[in-house]
Amino acid sequence: MILRGRRPAAMLGCLIFTVMSCATEQPKPEQPKAGEPMAAKADSANPLLAEWAGPYGGVPPFGRFKVSDIQPALESAMAANLREIDRIAGGADPATFENTIAAMERTGKALDRVRTVYGIYTSTMNDAEVQAIESEMSPKLAAFNDRIVQNGRLFSRIAAVYEARDRLGLTPEQQRLVWLDYTNFVRQGAKLDAGQKQRLAAINQQLASLYAKFRQNLLAEENSQMVVLEKEADLAGLSDSVREGASSAAASRGLSGKWAIVNTRSSVDPFLTQSTRRELREKIWRMFIMRGDNGDARDNKAAIVEILKLRAERATLLGYPTHAHWRLENTMAKTPERAEELMEAVWKPAVARVHEEVADMQAVADREGAKIRIQPWDYRFYAEKVRKAKYDLDDSDVKPYLQLEKLREGMFWVAGELFGLRFQQVTDGSVPVYHPDVRVFRVTDGQGKHVGLWYFDPYARQGKRSGAWMNAYRPQSRLDGEVPVIVSNNANFVKGKPGEPLLISWDDGRTLFHEFGHALHGLNSNVTYPSLAGTAVPRDYVEFPSQLLEHWLSTRAVLDRFAVHFRTGEPIPAALVQKIERAQTFNQGFMTVEYLASALIDMKLHLAGAAPIDPARFEKETLAALGMPKEIVMRHRTPQFGHVFSGDAYSAGYYSYLWSDTISADAWEAFLEASGPYDKVVAKKLHDHVFSVGNTVDPADAYRAFRGRDPGIAALMRKRGFPVPASGPVSDRKAAP
Ligand SMILES: [Zn+2]
Repeated sequence: MILRGRRPAAMLGCLIFTVMSCATEQPKPEQPKAGEPMAAKADSANPLLAEWAGPYGGVPPFGRFKVSDIQPALESAMAANLREIDRIAGGADPATFENTIAAMERTGKALDRVRTVYGIYTSTMNDAEVQAIESEMSPKLAAFNDRIVQNGRLFSRIAAVYEARDRLGLTPEQQRLVWLDYTNFVRQGAKLDAGQKQRLAAINQQLASLYAKFRQNLLAEENSQMVVLEKEADLAGLSDSVREGASSAAASRGLSGKWAIVNTRSSVDPFLTQSTRRELREKIWRMFIMRGDNGDARDNKAAIVEILKLRAERATLLGYPTHAHWRLENTMAKTPERAEELMEAVWKPAVARVHEEVADMQAVADREGAKIRIQPWDYRFYAEKVRKAKYDLDDSDVKPYLQLEKLREGMFWVAGELFGLRFQQVTDGSVPVYHPDVRVFRVTDGQGKHVGLWYFDPYARQGKRSGAWMNAYRPQSRLDGEVPVIVSNNANFVKGKPGEPLLISWDDGRTLFHEFGHALHGLNSNVTYPSLAGTAVPRDYVEFPSQLLEHWLSTRAVLDRFAVHFRTGEPIPAALVQKIERAQTFNQGFMTVEYLASALIDMKLHLAGAAPIDPARFEKETLAALGMPKEIVMRHRTPQFGHVFSGDAYSAGYYSYLWSDTISADAWEAFLEASGPYDKVVAKKLHDHVFSVGNTVDPADAYRAFRGRDPGIAALMRKRGFPVPASGPVSDRKAAP
């Protein structure tokens, strides 16, 4: 793919992936302390249950366990965890912050460790054996969480501390932790009666199974479906790197000598952008947008109907009008109405821009005598032609300057300038990895003090989820001594020829910086309690640090030093950078509309209440009512909307990317209003009020402390090249304490 200008992370398919239970929503799972007797004799032989050994506060024991160890380790760690919870809940002394809230923070360590490994395997090493474990364990883990939340004696103790919180002399961080624990328990049904609790647990278990099924159906469609190109003529228009990717994709599937376009975004989008074979574009486009919607055993629509029904019932049970109201209560936006207000403020200008973009493309097609009306499978192809005509900008001109490894060095340099961090690869074999493609880097601060580890898993392979994401293996904390962070960045770059540097697109470069922003959010964490660390913030705030970091890719300092030609070593020419900058707002109509259509459908599906929903009809009718341009399809149609249906985390939450981008655009202008991207004073404020505080401060307060005011919408509209309104949403209201 080619330069796309500034696009929000949602469009980059980013998910932040937290194996740790999410502190904004779930109470922490609990864990045996050292010295606690393990239940079964087999436990002592299970390497996954041991403390992480090795350097840097211990590292995951890759290479020392079998996949078959994962399930018994999860079962055993859950059981031990429940025993610990019972011990806290059954304490004879009156509840205090220390014996209840802090005690809960100290539990859950072994289960956290096992879940980390389990999460790595389900997302990056997902073969048949792992899938079988996932199918079995998903509902069990959900039930486990319910057993903690529904422990009445535990909740009474939390509630007692909560009621007394103003008299206990707590620090602000402790105050917030008490508030979060209490609120999270209530939100998950701690106040329900026994019968209601039983029903809630049953719903959660059913949902967990449905999520796993949805995820696996989607993965199966992406891994197994493809269009095989038989002859050279089918490759017309494709760049060398796309040809090579298609060739190796075919070879790895036993089709040497042919070319395969597999059904993932990273394979499909470049084809749609470059191929001059219109009928093949249509065929591949249809394959891609029909993932999970083919009326066969892997069709996801029935699962969606069930998921929506169960979510609506659960919301009612918990006392909320809809699932959307329940989900948004503890976010920065607070209500579905505020989220919709922002989306609607952006929707109309974006649609208006799409009509202009289509007119530009139609003019090109007419001029070329193509005798077509622009269809969805033409959009990327003709947008590319318009880009070349309007901005004289070509992917193949830019790509030779974007080497994956040089840009990685560029990210490290930015982390040094902004936060004083240093990165050095661990090459002494002291840190094992789960796959030979994975590299580990040690992170230190300016004084050489150890900060954490950063794992980098950049390449696509079978069994690895598509897209790019960050995974927090171990959060920072200093409750009982400093615990150093471990995070990873994961991507799906297609390996090129051996021995040649991997060249990536401008978009991929932005994705790289984006995920690194999440990693820095984890690495800079400076809190006491682990459940408040790093990225454990509300989900409409969590994409803010990552989207903000994307901006540094296009800074002069990074481009001059790290965007260097892979053959000549020459920095990217200033004229080319100017073209890139001029093209920043190009195609923003398309980008914004394909994203917002998904975000609006997500929100409206979850505002619809308990009435049965036919997803296909709902999608069609809602899009028609919104005035969806017929040349664009949702970025994620409902049957493949993994953000929303493979778990709760981003349900009624896909809007978060726009929300976060609004904040990140506003924050970037703080640098521009000062001395520029490397302004030390602004960078320090960013560190002190955003990157280091985790969830110890309410996000709205944290942002205000950084910026000196609330965020507004104007910077976002400028960033996307839309008309700037006089005033807009996302301002002047305070989020929850
Ligand atoms: Zn992200």
